[in-house]
Amino acid sequence: MAWRLPPVVTAVGALFLNWRLPEGNWPRPMLVLYCLSGMLMMTGLMAEHLGGAGEGEGFMAKGLVVVIALVAVLATAGARDLVLTYGIPALALGWVVMGQSLSAVEWFSALIHPMLMAVLGIVVAEELLRVRLAAFAARQELARNASTDVLTGLANRRAFDERLEAEHARSLRVGSGYALVMTDLDHFKHVNDTWGHEVGDEVLRELAQRLVSVLRTEDMLGRWGGEEFMALLPGAGEREAMTVAEKLRHAVADTLFATSAGSIPVTTSLGVAVFRGEQLPGMVARRADIALYAAKENGRNRSETA
Ligand code: GH3
Ligand code: MG
Ligand code: MG
Repeated sequence: MAWRLPPVVTAVGALFLNWRLPEGNWPRPMLVLYCLSGMLMMTGLMAEHLGGAGEGEGFMAKGLVVVIALVAVLATAGARDLVLTYGIPALALGWVVMGQSLSAVEWFSALIHPMLMAVLGIVVAEELLRVRLAAFAARQELARNASTDVLTGLANRRAFDERLEAEHARSLRVGSGYALVMTDLDHFKHVNDTWGHEVGDEVLRELAQRLVSVLRTEDMLGRWGGEEFMALLPGAGEREAMTVAEKLRHAVADTLFATSAGSIPVTTSLGVAVFRGEQLPGMVARRADIALYAAKENGRNRSETA
């Protein structure tokens, strides 16, 4: 009876924790403890039978096989989990069996199946871990794709908005401030119409690289729309933001763009807006857009602020 107690206690404990934890997942240590107690029960019962009437080993061995198989499936960290769950009970059992002066044949017939299952269990646990890791990597990749613009590799609008929201909230809370610089290619329709959409895409890719190279690592550049990009400059005031905008403008206008259709001159117009305590980040973006419009109106290839 005493051997049956550990798994019951741990199972009740695990169920209680499962009920209390919001994620509803069994915590890993609980899982290991549960497996360990199952192993202890089976090995304990087996040791008891070996030391007593000497009957029922077959039954016990089968129980052990089942438990080992279950542990293998439940093991969350691969074979690593099994060292603990198999190792300790196996040592205990070995110690008891040694004291029973059993013949080698008896010893072998009692333990061959559990041993085989232990080896199989290790293989299964490692394989399951590999599958879990692959699934995890696939989920990560999916999440990355959902936030990346395919053409330029920059953050897409969704990812940029998320970061902007966070920066805006931080600015409202601790007054850190930030600036937005909105960029739009000048007469980009002309590029598409003259050299084709493919070349237009090449220009967009090259543009993204040039803009990124100007910014600091703590800044963020995102593809805001088709040929519009937005830079978020945490902590930047108006003067600093205007300096960055001019650097961005020069990075584009000063060197021709090498494309498959030859070298093309490209320019951009930029609109700068600094956070002024607005309630919503969209209001700051709106001012950057207005500034950009002014830059277009005032002749393009220039930066304006609003
Ligand atoms: P301006 O901004 O200076 O006023 O002139 P524009 O010619 O750039 O004007 P507009 O903003 O109206 O045109 C944007 C063009 O950008 C139209 C659209 O076909 C093109 N475009 C948007 N997204 C992409 C893209 O992913 N690839 C390519 N090749 N072109 C794109
Ligand atoms: Mg545009
Ligand atoms: Mg344009």
